[in-house]
Amino acid sequence: MIASTSSVSFSQLALGEPLQRALTEKGYTHPSPIQAQAIPPLLAGRDMVGIAQTGTGKTAAFALPMLHRLSTHPAPRVPRRPRALILTPTRELAAQIADNVEFYGRHLSLRHTVVFGGVGEQPQIRALAAGVDIVIATPGRLLDLMEQGHAFLDRVEMFVLDEADRMLDMGFAPAVKRVVAKLPQRRQSLLFSATMPDSIRELVNRLLHDPVRVEVAPVATTAEKIDQRVCHVDRSHKHALLVHTLGQHKDGLVLVFTRTKHGANRLAKNLTRDGIRADAIHGNKSQGARERALDDFRSGHIRVLVATDIAARGIDVKGIGLVVNFDLPNEPESYVHRIGRTARAGAEGLAIAFCDAEEREFLRDIQRLIRMTIPVVNDHPFAGAAPVRTPQANAGQQQPARGGQSHSHGHGGGHRHDSRGRPEQRSRHNQNHGHAPARAAAPVAGGTANSHGHPATAHAQTANSPAPHTSARPAPQRSALSRGDRGFRWGFGRSR
Ligand code: AMP
Repeated sequence: MIASTSSVSFSQLALGEPLQRALTEKGYTHPSPIQAQAIPPLLAGRDMVGIAQTGTGKTAAFALPMLHRLSTHPAPRVPRRPRALILTPTRELAAQIADNVEFYGRHLSLRHTVVFGGVGEQPQIRALAAGVDIVIATPGRLLDLMEQGHAFLDRVEMFVLDEADRMLDMGFAPAVKRVVAKLPQRRQSLLFSATMPDSIRELVNRLLHDPVRVEVAPVATTAEKIDQRVCHVDRSHKHALLVHTLGQHKDGLVLVFTRTKHGANRLAKNLTRDGIRADAIHGNKSQGARERALDDFRSGHIRVLVATDIAARGIDVKGIGLVVNFDLPNEPESYVHRIGRTARAGAEGLAIAFCDAEEREFLRDIQRLIRMTIPVVNDHPFAGAAPVRTPQANAGQQQPARGGQSHSHGHGGGHRHDSRGRPEQRSRHNQNHGHAPARAAAPVAGGTANSHGHPATAHAQTANSPAPHTSARPAPQRSALSRGDRGFRWGFGRSR
């Protein structure tokens, strides 16, 4: 297993010239850690389990070897019978993967199509009938089309199950099983997942044959390279605090998370009323409306996108400088996924959480998962209105705040709120989700971006072992709510 990518460049990997050319055109010179680990064994035809989430470059890690193998082992294109299938939980992710496949394959004559719900079936049926090499699909629509005789999987040579943990969380297990049952025995299979709960382990055993295991820093450590802050604030002041925060961060795109679809709509409307260009994205919106909102966000036409968790999964928009958790999620893993929408591809990012009195428990769970105490911003205009913290909040495992702010744990004394599903949440903690066991916060100043700017560090540890040691470096002084001194950087290249 390759532990470091410092000496590897794409040109040293056995990818064909048309792919190398596309990579050059894309401006990629060096593979990300997951790519460096995954590409050689995948080119050799091995099965693979990859522990990685979006933002690590995992799409290219499977798409490049797929395109290489399909183009170097040509086979006639047969209507409705693709040679490769990528199964992914959301339409957004499917569309994003398709964009990548399109780009990397631009000098090859392979064809691909997307198959997902929320849009008309006819174009997808026509594309399948015309014959495609690669299908990128969400499970529901794919099954529909299979049942109607528009798609058959008996010629699939390569199968990718992407974001497997999310797939199961979203209730796709039966659909995945039915799809897998139609695949031929002889095939190359890949499974990617950010976490490794038992349900995924089972799937790995069922799906994969003698898989190579590749892994980049687990979800909990990925959060460390993001500059994080928490503002304690009364619920009634959250909107005003958001407007204030947006006023302090005039550059870059801002992604704001709410717990409910209704809350997302209301917040986007209120922001618009306040003269801030904003829109909402959530599961109740039509595919067209979601794509429009995302396009407007990408182009900067709107500056603030208010999202719920489902819609945000896999959003890969460059230039998100700030993620605001307007509501704290009751699942701590969601916090990590949410803030991971900033700091994409090695860039730095800022994440601010608004925590009201009822959300203290959620904050504590989050801090336990990420194994750090999030520095508290005490000098925002609505700090005085937030409930008083208990004395022990300022004692004990205090961390050096990177922003030079005085801060505390800020989560003392919270009581349980059963109405928000705490008992369930408790039991989730007792399950093994592939995260290292909770332990006292470690020094966090300086983050973990490595010298190559890779967003995550490749390592060969098991999913259950503690996160790799990350060295602390001296903390630059900067205001917690202002980061004008930080430019956004992109790319995995070594040149930086
Ligand atoms: P993914 O995890 O596949 O969603 O990729 C995250 C981001 O990293 C996307 O914006 C990719 O375009 C970008 N990316 C992937 N591989 C590389 C690479 N080798 N060099 C620079 N950027 C990359």
